[in-house]
Amino acid sequence: MRIGYGFDSHEFRPGIALKIGGVTLAHDKGLGGHSDGDVLLHAITDALLGAVAAPDIGALFPPSDPKWKGADSAVFLREALKRVHSAGYSVANIDASLILAAPKIGPHAAGIRARVAQLLGVAADCVGLKAKTPEGLNLDNAAVAHVVVLLEKRGDSKKVGNKTKQRAKKTK
Ligand code: MG
Repeated sequence: MRIGYGFDSHEFRPGIALKIGGVTLAHDKGLGGHSDGDVLLHAITDALLGAVAAPDIGALFPPSDPKWKGADSAVFLREALKRVHSAGYSVANIDASLILAAPKIGPHAAGIRARVAQLLGVAADCVGLKAKTPEGLNLDNAAVAHVVVLLEKRGDSKKVGNKTKQRAKKTK
């Protein structure tokens, strides 16, 4: 098994859409950034990349590259997941904590978990999501995400097949 950890933070800015976990939420401000500013998908992406010791999101998708301007952060997550799979692992579960003053995440939690689960190719009960308000932290104009992910080695059916063949030969 492998464990990965990801962290991200973005500042709220007026006049842009708020995207968290691949879901657009109704709010008077959105999260700034070079891409769509999806703080949760960025932290998940870094957790996946970290679990297989791959370069981080900033190295793979540099904010200096105009290609990623306004990009859908699902693109970053899909690339990280591809690297996880080619390293021979699959996602067992993830757990995320969001820290933000507003909007309230509770009413949207099920939708966010479902979308993240869909992107990761896991069941919704493999995606944990908690939201906290930043009490006493003076973080009213920012959103922060912490994510841990657990990966498990995938069973290789080819190898099992080869073993069976070898055993069959020996018996002959
Ligand atoms: Mg980010």
